[in-house]
Amino acid sequence: MIFRLHEIKLKLEYTKEDILNSIISNTGLQKKNILSNKIIRRSLDARRDPVYNLVIEFKCNDDVIPKKSNYLKKYKPDTPKTSPFIKNYTGLSPIIVGAGPTGLMAALKLAEHGIAPTIYERGSDAYTRAREIEEYIKTGKLNTESNILFGEGGAGLFSDGKLTTRSKNKSTMKYFFEKLVECGAPRSILIDSEPHLGSDVLLQIVPRLREMIIQKGGKFHFNSTVTDLIIKDNKVTGIIVNDKKINTNHCILATGHSARDVYKFLSKKKIDLEPKGFAVGVRVEISQAKVNLAQYGKHVKNPLLKPAFFRLVRKAKDDFRACYTFCMCPGGTVLSCASSEGMITTNGMSLSKRNGSLANAGFLVPVNVEDYQDFHQDEYPNLAGMFFQESIEKKIFEAGGSDYSIPTARLTDYIKGIKTDKLPHNISCKRAVPTKINDILPDFINKTLINSIPKMMSILGEYNYNNVTVFAAETRSSSPVRILRNKEENESTNTKGLFPCGEGAGYAGGIVSSAIDGIKIAESILDKTSKV
Ligand SMILES: Cc1cc2nc3c(=O)[nH]c(=O)nc-3n(C[C@H](O)[C@H](O)[C@H](O)COP(=O)(O)OP(=O)(O)OC[C@H]3O[C@@H](n4cnc5c(N)ncnc54)[C@H](O)[C@@H]3O)c2cc1C
Repeated sequence: MIFRLHEIKLKLEYTKEDILNSIISNTGLQKKNILSNKIIRRSLDARRDPVYNLVIEFKCNDDVIPKKSNYLKKYKPDTPKTSPFIKNYTGLSPIIVGAGPTGLMAALKLAEHGIAPTIYERGSDAYTRAREIEEYIKTGKLNTESNILFGEGGAGLFSDGKLTTRSKNKSTMKYFFEKLVECGAPRSILIDSEPHLGSDVLLQIVPRLREMIIQKGGKFHFNSTVTDLIIKDNKVTGIIVNDKKINTNHCILATGHSARDVYKFLSKKKIDLEPKGFAVGVRVEISQAKVNLAQYGKHVKNPLLKPAFFRLVRKAKDDFRACYTFCMCPGGTVLSCASSEGMITTNGMSLSKRNGSLANAGFLVPVNVEDYQDFHQDEYPNLAGMFFQESIEKKIFEAGGSDYSIPTARLTDYIKGIKTDKLPHNISCKRAVPTKINDILPDFINKTLINSIPKMMSILGEYNYNNVTVFAAETRSSSPVRILRNKEENESTNTKGLFPCGEGAGYAGGIVSSAIDGIKIAESILDKTSKV
């Protein structure tokens, strides 16, 4: 029989022996009857003396009964969804547009089940891309096709690599994490409640994932921007890439939410789209030591504790909207991100050790569809949210000196509405200029941020706003559009053979949910193909 013991608290330096002893003491079983055990989940509880809160799974002999406890549950493994293997597939190769987490995982799933896909990615392969990004950070020279947002690995390649998600699809998530481990991720991601990889590890994983797909017959084309779809009788028959037509019956559109040219051609082709809400704000940087102290208190010097993170929310009240933190990067770096000329946005990244001296996070305010109606353009009826984002990103670019530097201010000056003359000497971002940032965001966002950030800083014990750096602005938290698809087959609601998925289609947010969505689309195609 298999059981799971919940809420087991063990010291940070627990051993295998400690795990076994906690099973014995909580169940009354004898050591000889416990056949195997493993940790299923591990979260840090630092409210008092820091401990790990564990979920332990164990197998025991069928003829013994552990003593009853609220923390003990009999465990019956889920039966994960199994996809059919397509033998001798002779159809046209499915085309996957975009090699971010969505596209890569859709590709792997299809390839593992007998349908080798062809992947077109506008940016470069991961290693070449890394060099291009280095050049951009150093010189401000932007390659619009291969940058922090575009290229193999997708938007999250140069990220903190946080693998947190609210997805309930546990078995698909497990499959994704196991593939990451096969490609070199640490095994701890399989159990930690707040797993993360870091850009350095992601840069090793992504090429291995590509190799896995190639070994199973998949084909990759980098520096290949898909510029149009060919649709006949409401059905995709091909794509246009590098001015060439490529035939296909299945086009998985996994282009992320920065591919504005894609939204435009979809809109022109009258593919069903609908506007959606998203969030806009700023990226804030503070001392990592402050965050550690706020979270760990007197235990802050414990060498077993990792750089702390935070997740803060302020509810909407009176005239102020809600404000919440997003994509927090412990020990990280603030990035200037751009994918088209004359526009920038912010985001953050960190390395696997998260050992920088500063922490950053997006502080965002929700934006509703009604907020951006003024940006409506008749030519592109559902893309007002995207034009609203662009309008802010153009202001960011100009305020930053038009060289892809981020307009930046001390929180003190942002609150007063004045220009910052000098930034803290140790800020993480190589492309930041001190300036006045209050004219960049709409009033309703500034008002909420100026009201909320100081209160949120007080939770972190930071009362000196001169030490808080505000980078303007964060505009691409999620897609401003949803590309509609049906629930049964996950196909576009008005175009057969088109499978919009991942973050850009509005069905995911973050690395894990995007990867899960890609897998789900591949499963739909496999199911459908097996029935033909
Ligand atoms: C700096 C940064 C840090 C982040 N940190 C985290 C984090 O720590 N944790 C987390 O969960 N999420 C993070 N995110 C968000 C995460 O990266 C995205 O949610 C995720 O990558 C979305 O996956 P996707 O595959 O749907 O889209 P994307 O990752 O955007 O991938 C889309 C791909 O399609 C390609 N493409 C676009 N248009 C075309 C075209 N016309 N032809 C061919 N190819 C095309 C793009 O080049 C890109 O590679 C971060 C994002 C950024 C920018």
